[in-house]
Amino acid sequence: MKRRKLLKQLGFGLSGGLLLPHLLSSCTKDDPAPEVPFDGDVVVIGAGTAGLYTADILKAKGIKVKILEAGSQIGGRVRSLRNQKELVNLSVADFPVELGAEVIYGSDSIWGTNLKNFAVNTIDIDEVSSDRYILDNISKLAADWEIDGDFTNAQNFVASLQNFSGSGVSVEQAAAGLPARVKALINSQIGNLYGSSNSALGMGGVSESLQARTHDGARLALRTNPMQDFLIFRFDQVRDLVQLNTQVTSIDSTGDKVLITDANGNQIETNKVVVTVPISILKKNAISFSPGLPGAMTSSMSRIGMDHSIRVVIDFKKNFWGETTGFLWGGESIANCFSAGVGRGEFNQTLSITINGPKAVELSAQGPDMVNTILTELDTIYGGQATAFVRRDFDTSQVLSVIQDWGKDEFIQGGYSYPMASATLEDRGNLGLPIGDKVFFAGEATDVSGDAGTINGALASAERVTQEIIKSITGE
Ligand SMILES: Cc1cc2nc3c(=O)[nH]c(=O)nc-3n(C[C@H](O)[C@H](O)[C@H](O)COP(=O)(O)OP(=O)(O)OC[C@H]3O[C@@H](n4cnc5c(N)ncnc54)[C@H](O)[C@@H]3O)c2cc1C
Repeated sequence: MKRRKLLKQLGFGLSGGLLLPHLLSSCTKDDPAPEVPFDGDVVVIGAGTAGLYTADILKAKGIKVKILEAGSQIGGRVRSLRNQKELVNLSVADFPVELGAEVIYGSDSIWGTNLKNFAVNTIDIDEVSSDRYILDNISKLAADWEIDGDFTNAQNFVASLQNFSGSGVSVEQAAAGLPARVKALINSQIGNLYGSSNSALGMGGVSESLQARTHDGARLALRTNPMQDFLIFRFDQVRDLVQLNTQVTSIDSTGDKVLITDANGNQIETNKVVVTVPISILKKNAISFSPGLPGAMTSSMSRIGMDHSIRVVIDFKKNFWGETTGFLWGGESIANCFSAGVGRGEFNQTLSITINGPKAVELSAQGPDMVNTILTELDTIYGGQATAFVRRDFDTSQVLSVIQDWGKDEFIQGGYSYPMASATLEDRGNLGLPIGDKVFFAGEATDVSGDAGTINGALASAERVTQEIIKSITGE
């Protein structure tokens, strides 16, 4: 009964298809004795995907755990429009609109398997839609571009990414032989997709990750349930263990116990800590560590970037980009442009745009005017239809849009981590090095399974870090 009420609060109806709450992995009062005997407790810093899953596994093992989160909501970079009360009226969409992660990569990946286990309704983006590609301000299907040699060469370059071997080369350097007219296209398909731009993204790091990846690479989206709701539902067992609005500023592990201090000067003592904050936060030294971070970790940190990132969602009165269009590749201020209603909305008239790297810095400086920059680019491709059909507020004539500027979010400060030219997969491993047997690190940037920068990477890092903690307790 209690569970039913919770599902309702989270917006999960029968349409969400969530049937199997008993599959939750955490302990219930009926569970047998703890698997890991430990008198102490563990504090997890950050209530994003990695932090929640870490706490969930530790709790299931009978370990006392608490989560400290700087922000005012659970989910981190999984954030859905429907949960943002101050923004919610800006979109008429009848499908989940995401401000952060929107694609589930791999039907058999960790996150894909979770969705399957809970019978959550999804769409396979590639089954319900086709991507379109922009060259010379014209948007067409891949098949319609095939006679264009430059397009074919560009797509061959994208497809061969995972065959690259070597290091010290940016994508831009590797693509130097391709003509200028395909530069924006491959920047959107590679540099922007992996969190940055072709000038900063390293070929070696991306190639190694793609080779390490084991899932089928399918692209799914949730049909009815916002991603943040499913994340909170999935980790319901640790929800009450989260203390919000608690920004950790220092972690001192020089004594017998670890002393954690927050921005208000409050202190907590614990036995072990798992830090899951975004790598941008560590790079900016927003948390001070004593003893300091391992040398190999700080050295690797200089080779893993996390650039500015913005999500812009715009509603239109008409779908002028094609009812069956999925992603549009090749734009600049619309580098990653997803037709968010495709296959899931009666009203398929919303674009969800993700811009990373230097272009995101440029747009961020424009503030709300960035929406006009985006409309202007769309107008150039679609003969003025963007400005003609954009939805506006009846009274104020303001364009109806939502801007989530992740680079300006104090506790995120960017999009997701990416390898710079000189980075290797070993650097990811070094980002997860512990300080002694007391301070551990997880989060998407530390993933070595090939899924860094995604929800799967965050989940895989939680599985890795909990094994490390258990080993530090049991010695096995
Ligand atoms: C625009 C955008 C689009 C994306 N698209 C996709 C996608 O389509 N598919 C996909 O799989 N992934 C996508 N991602 C990436 C995905 O969202 C992340 O990889 C994943 O959510 C990271 O989880 P995490 O737990 O590692 O970090 P986070 O979710 O960032 O969690 C870290 C938490 O730490 C908190 N924190 C920070 N500083 C402190 C502090 N000092 N004290 C306490 N708490 C602190 C933060 O508030 C945050 O809640 C996208 C990300 C963005 C930004």
